[in-house]
Parts: sequence; structure tokens; C-alpha cells
Amino acid sequence: MSNHEEYMKMAAKLAEENVKNGGGPFAAVVVKDDKVIATGCNRVTDKHDPTAHAEVEAIRKATQKLGTHDLSGCTIYSSCEPCPMCLGAIYWARLDRLFFGNTRSDAASIGFDDEFIHLELEKPIDQRSIPTQQIVTKNIKDAFEHWAQNEDKKEY
Ligand SMILES: [Zn+2]
Repeated sequence: MSNHEEYMKMAAKLAEENVKNGGGPFAAVVVKDDKVIATGCNRVTDKHDPTAHAEVEAIRKATQKLGTHDLSGCTIYSSCEPCPMCLGAIYWARLDRLFFGNTRSDAASIGFDDEFIHLELEKPIDQRSIPTQQIVTKNIKDAFEHWAQNEDKKEY
């Protein structure tokens, strides 16, 4: 069995344990140089945090542990195909590679349907279900201008 399968088995086992502990059926494992850096389980209900998905939890722990926002060189194993939020987080964290176990349609079949968000992202802003509009104030560009002019900024 490859190491990839071992790490996916670990994610599946963590997801199963999370269900037994009253959480959602999702877990993720972040690996670097064939070592587990961090794991995360879905903690949405017990943390009262809609962003506490397994991948986000694992990424937050991994970045804290490594002392960097940049997870280049790391691979994430998610027990399920990531939702749009987690996929965004995976890209922002610059992980090298993503493996997933269950598909998003598997998740939809047990009541976790993120297809709705995937479809929302494809719609023009004025057609989305959450009313969204731009407000341009006099100072709205101030932070951007200061950022652009600041030569000491820590780029990321
Ligand atoms: Zn997610």
C-alpha cells in the first residue's frame, strides 16, 4: 500500500472518530516530507464556527506548527472532495498537492451539498441568492494605495 493510501486511511479513520464524538464525517491530514504535520476534523457544530471544516482546521494547525502562512512542500489528504471555501484555503496556503477520498456527490447523498455554492460562484453578482452590491466610499482605496506605496510590506 502506498503512503498516499496510508494517509487517506488516517483521514478516513479520523473522520469516523469525529462522527463518534458528535462531529461531522470529515477529516484532513497535512503531510510534509512524509511526516504528518497536522490533522483536522470538522468542528463546525461544537466550535459554533461555520468555517471549521476539516481542511481549514488542518491548515490552521499546520501553519501554526510550521510558523508560516505558506505550506509549499506540503500535501493535504482530505476524506472528502473539498468545498469551495476549503479549496480556496488550499490554494491560499499553496499546498503542493491534494488527495481526496469521498466525492462531493458522495457528500451530497448524505446531506452535505456544496453544489449550491459551486453554482453560486458561476453566477453574476446580481443573480446570487445573497444580495450583494458594491459601495464605493471616498476612503475605500486608501488601504490599497498605502499598501502599493509601502516598500517595507510583507508580501504574501
Ligand atoms: Zn470545506
